[in-house]
Amino acid sequence: IAKRIQGTEKNVWVDISKLAVQQKSVNLGQGFPDFMAPEHVVQCLKDAVCSDTPGVHQYTRSFGHPRLVSALAQLYEPIFGRQIDPMTEILISIGGYGSLFSIIQGLVNPGDEVIIIEPFFDCYMPMVKAACGVPVFVPLRPTAAGQVTSSADWKLDESELSSKFNSKTKLIILNTPNNPLGKVFKKEELQVISDLCKKHDVVCIADEVYEWMTYDDNRHVRIATLPDMWERTVTIGSAGKTFSVTGWKLGWTIGPKHLVHCAQIMHQNCAYTCPTPMQEAVARGLEVEISRLGTPESYLTSLAKELQPKRDYLASVLAEVGMKPVVPQGGYFMMADYSNLVSDLPESDEAKDFRFVKWMTINKKLTVIPPTAFYSKEHEHMVDNYVRFCFIKKDSTLQQAAQILKHWN
Ligand code: PMP
Ligand code: GLN
Repeated sequence: IAKRIQGTEKNVWVDISKLAVQQKSVNLGQGFPDFMAPEHVVQCLKDAVCSDTPGVHQYTRSFGHPRLVSALAQLYEPIFGRQIDPMTEILISIGGYGSLFSIIQGLVNPGDEVIIIEPFFDCYMPMVKAACGVPVFVPLRPTAAGQVTSSADWKLDESELSSKFNSKTKLIILNTPNNPLGKVFKKEELQVISDLCKKHDVVCIADEVYEWMTYDDNRHVRIATLPDMWERTVTIGSAGKTFSVTGWKLGWTIGPKHLVHCAQIMHQNCAYTCPTPMQEAVARGLEVEISRLGTPESYLTSLAKELQPKRDYLASVLAEVGMKPVVPQGGYFMMADYSNLVSDLPESDEAKDFRFVKWMTINKKLTVIPPTAFYSKEHEHMVDNYVRFCFIKKDSTLQQAAQILKHWN
């Protein structure tokens, strides 16, 4: 195994998903819907596959199928408040993962520092290491205590954040709405990050794959739309999250030509292109969405409305059983403190949350995700009493989980 990927052998999705399947547990672990994808989106794939254009089964343009990048430009132009060149300012990759990989590989030189906000989506750290970059961690710190709190209570300490920027800093990776916490960064919080990026000439990777999922009066603000930030931001989106089709694995990178170009170079030589039928289907799906924007049929806005009662139900069950949920402002995950449920766990060299999740999967047949997977070693103690629940699940699945928690003893 190459030196630069040593230490990245463990993967929470591989390990915990395998255990959940083996144990046939109620699975609120890995983030994917356990219900059928929206009918009109599935229909778009059927139409794409059955279309009599021969090209649909062959390689398409390396940086993105023309119909897909055009649809994305059309969707995002009003959102970013500017014209977007579909050929030079967008790249289609293998999922949000592929987008992150190409931009990190395309920008980071050995020894460059990359600031990662904790909790972070777990692949950021191994991807930075694979590029021989140096991850520098800064945690969101909980500022409230109580039975039920909000992801809004987890904040960056401004002076701590600014102390991490220096002449070696190349990138900061921001994830809003955040996985696993569900925090939706407010404009003022983004302003602090943006001021530091400008002061230290740092590029921001904005992972916004949960962009359409916000609750209550929380609004998703894009850091690329803050003054002078377009030029130094790449924004990442995912068809898997947008259309509840995580198995389709298509992601996009949107930003200024000089940054997207770096990701394009990486992509053209690594993947070359993404599956054409999938790209054609997502293009058709987005075209439908564009025609439905602002109407009740819009999936982009109806999904959050469908998810909010699931979030509220899960939060109330967790509070009822004494788990102190952190109610998310966005995304489809919820963190909760499990320490009232167990007093002693099997000993091993693993973090406590991993031991709890494995024990619960085997003994209670309920699976969740241990959040120390989203932290550096240095800061994992901050969350080893928490677990992450996924709530993009059928009501009946959530009810099964509730039964297990309510009849714990
Ligand atoms: N970023 C975040 C924050 C995610 O939760 C995910 C989900 N896996 C991804 C990126 C990757 O998205 P995709 O499944 O499209 O590769
Ligand atoms: N993004 C999803 C999650 O956080 C799935 C990640 C994965 O399976 N690699 O659960």
